[in-house]
Amino acid sequence: MKIIVQRNLKRQIHTYYNMEDYITGETRRPGRIEVVCGSMFSGKTEELIRRMKRAKFARQRLIIFKPVIDTRYSAEDVVSHDRNAITSVPVKTAKEILEHANEVDVVGIDEAQFFDDDIIEVCNTLANRGIRVIIAGLDMDYKSKPFGPMPQLLAIADDVLKVHAICMHCGNHAYVSHRKVDVDGQVMLGEKTEYEPLCRECYKKEMARTQGYVSKLF
Ligand SMILES: [Zn+2]
Repeated sequence: MKIIVQRNLKRQIHTYYNMEDYITGETRRPGRIEVVCGSMFSGKTEELIRRMKRAKFARQRLIIFKPVIDTRYSAEDVVSHDRNAITSVPVKTAKEILEHANEVDVVGIDEAQFFDDDIIEVCNTLANRGIRVIIAGLDMDYKSKPFGPMPQLLAIADDVLKVHAICMHCGNHAYVSHRKVDVDGQVMLGEKTEYEPLCRECYKKEMARTQGYVSKLF
């Protein structure tokens, strides 16, 4: 009796997966890399969490990693700006991800721009093991330069989604996270007091107004 019940359950789950694929267009094809990138306040982490929650709902085994550098809210949660949290494992280096990513179907990586370059090899290794890897990260830093390993991650990804915040000055699609405070250095964690999403035109104007070096940047 027990065996029959288990078989039926397996069949039900199998049918559910197929239905899910059919409805959403998402596939359960294992071993793939997905990147969600954009400026700050563009909804990257929300999209990562949405995909992870769907995977959890489909009874897949999942784990989320983030670099220890991002301690803005909590050491153990991936927290998006709307405080929609999923528990995560903070790691110091990209290689640590391989140590923790055992017996899982889906690996989420948040704030990927802060990881070292090993993250590229790590993501390929995971995907080659048959794991779905979903990465969220800033595509550019506050100087509108590609951020850390993100360009390489975009290159090796099977699927890329670029999300956009709204320009705080004009309401168009933003493309960069403008740092409002006069502090140098690529890594400076902050929120809306320190950063604002701007479109290309408004960013150019802002640079000309505050720095006077628009010709160097563009
Ligand atoms: Zn604008």
